Amino acid sequence: MDNNEVWACASVEKDLDRVVTKLEQLHENASAEIGDIASLMSELVKVLGKAEQTVTTLNSSTQVGSGSVDDPMDIEHGMHMQVETEPAAPQRLTDRQMEIIREAILKCNERVQKLSTEHRDLHGSISKIGKVIDRNFTADFTSTMRVDALLDDENLMLLNKAIAKHYCRQGMDEVARTLIKECKMTEEHAQDVFDSEREFADIYGIWVKIQKRELDDALRWTMRFSQQLLDRHSLIEFRLHRMRFMQLVSYGLESQHEAIVYARTHFKKFAVRYEHEIANLMASFIYLPGGLENSPYKHFLAQEMWTELSFIFLKDACQLLGISKNSALSVVVNAGCTALPALLNIKQVMQSRQVLGMWNGCDELPIEIDLQPEFRFHSIFACPILRQQTSEDNPPKKLTCGHVISNDALHKLSNGHVLKCPYCPVEQNAEEAVRIYF
Ligand SMILES: [Zn+2]
Repeated sequence: MDNNEVWACASVEKDLDRVVTKLEQLHENASAEIGDIASLMSELVKVLGKAEQTVTTLNSSTQVGSGSVDDPMDIEHGMHMQVETEPAAPQRLTDRQMEIIREAILKCNERVQKLSTEHRDLHGSISKIGKVIDRNFTADFTSTMRVDALLDDENLMLLNKAIAKHYCRQGMDEVARTLIKECKMTEEHAQDVFDSEREFADIYGIWVKIQKRELDDALRWTMRFSQQLLDRHSLIEFRLHRMRFMQLVSYGLESQHEAIVYARTHFKKFAVRYEHEIANLMASFIYLPGGLENSPYKHFLAQEMWTELSFIFLKDACQLLGISKNSALSVVVNAGCTALPALLNIKQVMQSRQVLGMWNGCDELPIEIDLQPEFRFHSIFACPILRQQTSEDNPPKKLTCGHVISNDALHKLSNGHVLKCPYCPVEQNAEEAVRIYF
């Protein structure tokens, strides 16, 4: 982050803090006010209850109708109508009762009005935050966009496909189907969306279940791939059994037998590798009478352990099946966000020096973007002669002597078909160099 961005963040944060403080104040006030209103209301209900009793008693004894109403007290509240329409003097509320009712309603109205005004004010402040963000940050990224790329039908379809796959991975098949229908994707592409993501969608479903503390599907899956997981030194199968075991122990004394049988059945094959850990787990029975939550074992069932377990599962399962745990769309969006500030800067420089043309028409960015290691999926090759990264247009070529240089360098160095390797230097036929892939 450069200095400007730090200032921008600080400035937005300041406004945000102000709104949060206001919100907290409002919350505090509102709670107090609502408490007041509630106690006023309960007082009112009490008064009305008493009044109703009196009226009912009088009604049943005198059988007075409720026709002619001449009530000087104008109270705008439906609740009292029944009470107020009772005509004769003895059935009326006492003056004191009327006073309490009127006061209560007046106070309630006042306070509700006040709360609503305060709430409206706060709404104004919150919507201002959006404007502060717009003012402090660049909101217009169109200058770094290659809109022309999406004018091409095929590219647009690829983008739609990436979005559909993203939904499909997360089990949102319906959303993916709607998108496929609305963008008129071909049958073939649509089929590919579902076929390619099916495996991940299953894994994702299990991942969600682990977080909900449901282990059955995860255990079934890992037992199916048990040998492959062991070969890869994956911890996941043991971790899942360990969690299931602790879960059983946590149910208390009545599950003790089940827990022992579970340990005997499932820990056996891990006995050598996790000898001490298993011994440690078995000691948890000592704490059964007092409950696991009061024992040194309580951390085994903490939420972090479940979250960690779910992520180990996701990582190991994806590795085993050779699929990416991130969708292509999320990788592109995240890498793009990292690249944006640098691109905006370079664009400004290029604009000021009027060399914008350099940006267009090439399939690579004008500058190197330093991405985090998780965004590096394969090695790259820089030509040792031209000192440039190789690309689709200028791919790396392996010479017959085994040295590798870029295609452009190869053409520059060769004389007709004859090429002298710049390193060893074996003379050879330039045509015999083969393209290699990193
Ligand atoms: Zn060579």
